[in-house]
Amino acid sequence: MTTKTSYIAQSVKNLKPSGIRKFFDLAANMEGVISLGVGEPDFITSWTVREAAILSLEQGYTSYTANAGLLELREKIARYMKDGYSVDYDPKTEIIVTVGASQALDISMRAIIDQGDEVIIVEPGFVSYVPLVQLAGGVPVTVETKPENGFKVTAEELEAAITSKTKAVLLCSPNNPTGTVLERGNLESLAEVIRKHDLVVFSDEIYAELAYDSHHVSIASLEDMRKRTIVINGFSKGFAMTGWRLGYICAPEEIASSLLKIHQYAMMCASTPAQYAAVEALDKGMDDVMEMKRSYRHRRHYFVDSLNELGLTCHTPGGAFYAFPSIQKTGMSSGEFAEKLLMEEKVAVVPGNVFGKGGEGFIRCSYASSMEQLQEAVKRMKRFVENHS
Ligand code: PMP
Repeated sequence: MTTKTSYIAQSVKNLKPSGIRKFFDLAANMEGVISLGVGEPDFITSWTVREAAILSLEQGYTSYTANAGLLELREKIARYMKDGYSVDYDPKTEIIVTVGASQALDISMRAIIDQGDEVIIVEPGFVSYVPLVQLAGGVPVTVETKPENGFKVTAEELEAAITSKTKAVLLCSPNNPTGTVLERGNLESLAEVIRKHDLVVFSDEIYAELAYDSHHVSIASLEDMRKRTIVINGFSKGFAMTGWRLGYICAPEEIASSLLKIHQYAMMCASTPAQYAAVEALDKGMDDVMEMKRSYRHRRHYFVDSLNELGLTCHTPGGAFYAFPSIQKTGMSSGEFAEKLLMEEKVAVVPGNVFGKGGEGFIRCSYASSMEQLQEAVKRMKRFVENHS
């Protein structure tokens, strides 16, 4: 009997490893590193939320929930979407609780994309988008945004990328890695193009709670957009619940029921204690969310101003917890900058090129670190920039 040279599917062989990993692995083996690399809150989940999960376990709620999630949680999500973002979803048929926004993205792609369909992805963008589109059999078409436009994609840029094969557009606001927020006016002009070409929108709104200068607008709330939009959101960022692995999808019934088909076979349901925790988060956790937001806003000011003073030009990110400064003045590539900064000054950042087109020449720094850590990081980065200018 002959054995195959590899058992791995070609689609997986074709995937590139995440560029972020390399830096985490390097930093993990060093002492005294200040990490501005990870994309997660530096807060522990609110006590009241943790307590709700503990209580659910004490009460013995350890079975599966409905495939779509606890109805009580879906009802709370429906209220949250209506009160917060002016979109109505039926909790019984239009909301699915998922294992993080990550699974929400995965099943959304798989439900919408047929082999060869093109999906427009705005870059610099979150590292999972291109691989997830590829795994679903789609073709990612990337559109580069420009620093002079504050990394906002324009309606013209979007329209220029549309072909007869385009099925969907993926938008993320507030954005990872740029922190860019698409305000109502930007979304209106993009929506016009999307309606004209009858496209689906994957709207990644995981940072919705962390918009600092204006209230977050969901593209689903704009005229004639709800029927074509899949809203992807979750508890990881705003509620500081990354490890609970809890997200959700809001979509019109026809789409939601198709997503549920995949979800029920691939996942059954999200973690039960995490769902009880999330009920409490939406019920009593909002004050803590506001408090965390105030703290990020304060740190954003300090950190972005400091980077600009170092000559690492940085637009003011309207949301999320990332600064995306230019490192052009050092003449280094972003990979070189990140590697040398780690080796020489023990500060971990992520090179911009891992976020796709338009990311080269920039680095992503998370300011979800304590003020003391940020101040020390700025001190080290100042020395580094002076040594390399
Ligand atoms: N979308 C974006 C833009 C993100 O930054 C992240 C997390 N880094 C996710 C989705 C995935 O979030 P979750 O923890 O809910 O899977």
